[in-house]
Amino acid sequence: MADPTKEEMDYASGAGTTKRKELHGTKSLKAFSGTWARNHAEVTLQAYILSFTSDQSGDSFSSFVLLTEAKLDDEVASMEVDLFLIPNRIIKTSVSPCGQVHLDAHQVRKSKLFHEFFFNGIFGKLFVGTMSSGMKRDFLLGGDNDSLWGTSKMYLLLPIETSVASSPKHLNIVWKGIDSCACVVEYLRKIYSSDDGIYCSNPLDGDVHSLETECARSDIIYLANTYVERQHLKDMVVYAIHTGKIYSVLDVEMGTSSEDPFYQNIDEKSPHVSFSGYFCKKYGIVLQHPGQPLLLLKQSHNAHNLLIPRLKYEDVTAEKKIIPAHMPPELLVHVDIPTEVMKSFYLLPSLMHRLESLLLASQLREEIACHPSDRHISSFLILEAITTLRCCESFSLERLELLGDSILKYVMSCHFFLKYPRKHEGQLSAYRKQAVCNMMLHKLGASRNLQGYIRDSAFDPRRWVAPGQTSLHPEPCDCGVDTLNVPLHSKYVTEKTSTKIGKVCDRGHRWMCSKTIADCVESLVGAYFVSGGLGVAAALMRWLDFDAEFEPKLIMEAKVNASLWYYLPKLKEIEALETKIGYNFSVKGLLLEAITHPSQQELGIGYCYQRLEFLGDSLLDLLITWHLFQSYQDIDPGKLTDLRSANVNNENFAEAAVRHNLNQCLQHGSGVLLGQITEYIKCIWESYDSMKLLPPVGKSKGPKVLADLVESIAGAVLIDTELDLDRVWEIFRPLLSPIVTPDKLELPPLRKLIELCDYLGYTTSTRCMNKNDQVIAEIAVQLKDSRLVRHGCDRNRKSAKAQAAHHLLKDLEEKGISHAQYVSRKKQNGKKVDESCHSAMSSVILEVPRESELTRPLLGRQNMVGLLSTSELSQDISLVVEHHLVDEYSKGSCAIKLKAPVVLLIKMQKGGPRSTLFELCKMHQWPMPEFDTTEEVSRNPIEFKGLFGTRTGFNAFISSITLHVPNDAVIKLVGGQEADKNCSKDSAAYGTLLELERLGWCIIKDPS
Ligand SMILES: [Zn+2]
Repeated sequence: MADPTKEEMDYASGAGTTKRKELHGTKSLKAFSGTWARNHAEVTLQAYILSFTSDQSGDSFSSFVLLTEAKLDDEVASMEVDLFLIPNRIIKTSVSPCGQVHLDAHQVRKSKLFHEFFFNGIFGKLFVGTMSSGMKRDFLLGGDNDSLWGTSKMYLLLPIETSVASSPKHLNIVWKGIDSCACVVEYLRKIYSSDDGIYCSNPLDGDVHSLETECARSDIIYLANTYVERQHLKDMVVYAIHTGKIYSVLDVEMGTSSEDPFYQNIDEKSPHVSFSGYFCKKYGIVLQHPGQPLLLLKQSHNAHNLLIPRLKYEDVTAEKKIIPAHMPPELLVHVDIPTEVMKSFYLLPSLMHRLESLLLASQLREEIACHPSDRHISSFLILEAITTLRCCESFSLERLELLGDSILKYVMSCHFFLKYPRKHEGQLSAYRKQAVCNMMLHKLGASRNLQGYIRDSAFDPRRWVAPGQTSLHPEPCDCGVDTLNVPLHSKYVTEKTSTKIGKVCDRGHRWMCSKTIADCVESLVGAYFVSGGLGVAAALMRWLDFDAEFEPKLIMEAKVNASLWYYLPKLKEIEALETKIGYNFSVKGLLLEAITHPSQQELGIGYCYQRLEFLGDSLLDLLITWHLFQSYQDIDPGKLTDLRSANVNNENFAEAAVRHNLNQCLQHGSGVLLGQITEYIKCIWESYDSMKLLPPVGKSKGPKVLADLVESIAGAVLIDTELDLDRVWEIFRPLLSPIVTPDKLELPPLRKLIELCDYLGYTTSTRCMNKNDQVIAEIAVQLKDSRLVRHGCDRNRKSAKAQAAHHLLKDLEEKGISHAQYVSRKKQNGKKVDESCHSAMSSVILEVPRESELTRPLLGRQNMVGLLSTSELSQDISLVVEHHLVDEYSKGSCAIKLKAPVVLLIKMQKGGPRSTLFELCKMHQWPMPEFDTTEEVSRNPIEFKGLFGTRTGFNAFISSITLHVPNDAVIKLVGGQEADKNCSKDSAAYGTLLELERLGWCIIKDPS
C-alpha cells in the first residue's frame, strides 16, 4: 500500500487534469524479450512470414521472416496493414504464422551479423566516430557485438525466397545472401584493421593485373572484392568502404572516370579536384583503376512513417528527391543479396511499429484477463483505446473515451442506486460524481500501471531500431529515474508549461498529461463494452478496482421495495401510461414511483421519482451514446459529442414527453407547475401546427419536470426488466425519435456566432453579470461601421450567452449576413476552414485587383502553408483587408515596394512575431499597429492549440489588430485564441505578417 499521506499530496495538485504532467515509463514487450541471441547456442524459434505486395506491377519487395522465441498472439500473427509510399503507391503487407524454425549456433551467429550489417549499413551507422570530430573512425562490427543485442528486444528479420513464400509450408531463408553478408563483414574487418589504411590490401590485386590485360576490351568492372560484367551491375547491392553505407547500383555512367572533376566540391575551396584526388585527400585512398567508369548509386532513404495515407501531404511536404551518388567501382564491395531485400528494409520499420503496437495491446489484454470472454476482444480495439491523438494515427481513443464515459456513469449510477435504497438523489449524484471524476480514474488507472501502455507520441521511424542496430538519433536518459517504471511521486510531477509532452528517452520515459491516464481508463472501458458488452466492461471496471457490484439480490430488493407502494387508486393512470410506452410492468409500484413528483411528498407520500430519474438520466445517456457510436462510425469525436448533446438534453426529453402525452400521468400538487406545463405544451403544438422547426433558443423552455419524467420512467423500466438494456432501448427508441442525425445537427448559437464573426473578421466581446438568480450576458460584435450589442438572461451563463448570440445572429441576418451563407461558401471551397489557416486566408475578399499581385511572384507561399500546417495553427485567424484605390499620387510608393520585398525571419517564440512586425513598420515608417484584446473566462480549463504549442488555461485571449499600410491597405485581423494576452497579440501579429507577405511587402523565411 502506498503511504496515504504521500498519496494525498500527490492527488492534491490536480491529478487527472491536463495541467499536471507526470513522468511515466513504457512497458516493454514480453513477446520480443529473450536472451537466446546472447547465448551463442542453437535455438528453435517461432516463424512469421512478412510479405509485401505492391499495387503496381513490376514493383516487387522481398518477403521476410520474423523469428521470435515467444509465440505471438494469433490476431497479431495474421494481421494485415497497408503501407503508403510516395507517389501514390500502396504496399499491402501481411503477417502469417509459419510454424517453427530451428537454427544451429552457426546460423544464429550469421543471422545476427546480417542484422547488424544491414540495419546499420542502410542508415550509415557502420562507422563509430567521425573524421570531423577528430575521433578515429572505427568499424562498428569489428569484434564481438553482443552489446548491440538488448534482452528486451530480441528477434530476427531474415529475407526469404519470395517465390516459395507463397506456399506457406516451406520456409526458404536466403542463406546464400546471409552468408555473403558474413563474408563481407569478415573482409571488411580485415581491411579496416589493417594498419596501412583502408585501401591497400585489395585481395584481388594479384590476379587483377593479368585479368586487366586479358579482358581490357571486354566489359569487366572491378569492385573492391570481385569483378563483374558491366551488364550485371544494375540493381546490385554494394557497400562503400569509405562511407560505410549500403547502396544499390542504378547504372554505369559510361564515358566518366575518376579523373573527372568531383562536382560535389564545387562550392568548396578546391573546385577543380578530381574524384581520385578527393578520395586521396579525404580518405587517403589511392585509386588503382581510376580509368573505370563511375557507378550511379541509389542512396537509401531515411525511414518514413508509411502508416499514414500520404496523398494529402503530397503537395506540401513532398519528399526531397534523393540525388544518386557517383562512386568509383573499386571502393564498392559486392553484397550478394537481391535488391528487393534492400527495398523491403524501407518498409520494415513501419510494419514492425504497427506489429509492436498491436502486441502491446494484446499484452495489456492478457494482463487484464478479467473475464472469460475477454479473449475475444480485438487487439485493434484495445490499440485504439491506448492511442492518443498525439500519435497522429488514423485512429485514437477519443470515440471510445466518449462511450466509456457514459458507461462508467451508468454503471456507477446503477451501483449506487441499488446499494443505497434509502439515499436521496442528491447524495447518489455526489457519490457518482466522486466515483467517476478524473482524479479517481487517474488513481485507479495508475495503480494498474496503465500509463506504461499508453501510446502518446507519433511514431518516429528514425528512432525505431531493430535488434543489433544502433540508434540513429539517440536520446540518452537524463530523467533521474533508475527504473523503467517511474514511481508515482511528486518528484516526477510538474505543472511547468515548458515541459514537453510525449518526447521519449531511450529508456522509454516520457512526460504525459495526468488526464491522459483518466481518458485511457474511459476508452478501455469503452473498448471492452464494444467487444464484450456490459458484463465484460463491468469486469474490467472491477479489475481497475471500481467498487461497482450489482448483485441480482439487490435488484430483487429494489423491486420488492417498490412493490410496497399502494398503486391501486392510480391503476387507471398506470395502465394508460403502460399502453403509451408499450410495456407492462411486473412491479406497478415502480411506475407509480416514476410518475410521482416531489411535491406529493407534502401529502405524506414516502417516495418520488428523483431516485429513478437519477438512474434514468445516465441510462438514456448511455443508450443514446451507444446508438450514435454504432450508427456513425466515421464521424469525428467532436461531432459525436455535439450529436450526443443534441440528443441527450432536457429540451429533447421534454418534447418527447409532450409528443407522447406522458405529462398527463404526472402526479403532482403544484398549480404553478401545471401552468408552466400547459403553457409549454401549447407552445410546442403551435410550433408543430405551423410546420416550422423553431430555432433552439426561440423555443420556450420545457419545464424540467417533463424531462425528469421521461428519465424516471426509463429508470423504472430498467429495474423492472432487471437491467435489460436492450429491452429499455426497444421501448425508448420510438419514444425519443426522431433522433438528431449529423445532417440535422444544429450548432449552438454561440458557436455559430463565433464561427461567423471569425470568418468575417469581426471582433466579439462577452461580459457576464449576475443579477439575483439570473445571469445576464452581453455580447458585442464590432462591425466595420457599427457595433451590435445584445443581451441574454437566463439561469446560467451558457444559456444567457446562447440567447444573446441568438439575437445577434438575427441582427446580422437582417444585415444580409448569415451563417448558412458562410457554411455554403465553405463547402464550395471544398475545404474545412479549421483544417488550416491557409484556406481561411485565401478566402479573403479582395475587392480591388492589385498591381502587385500581377507582378509579384508568389514566393514564400509554399513556406507559409508548410509552416502553418506544421505549427498546428488550427485556430481560425480571420481577417478583413480593406483596400483603398491606388491613386495617382501613391503610385510612387507602390513602385518602391514592388522593387524589393523584405526578407523576414520570425522567431517563433513569445514576442517574436510582434517584434518582427514592429521592425517592418519602422522600416517603412508606417504607423504602429493597434491591438485590441478581449478576454473570456471559463469555468473549465480550455486547451489552446496556440501559435507556440498547446497550453491550457481558464482565460482565453483573443487579439484583433489594425494596421494601416499607407496608400495600400488597412489590415484588420483577429488572431487565434491563446492562453495569455501577449501570445494572442503575437498570433494576430503573425497573421498580419503572413498577410503582408501575401501583399508583397515581405518574404517570410522558414525559421528552420
Ligand atoms: Zn529517461
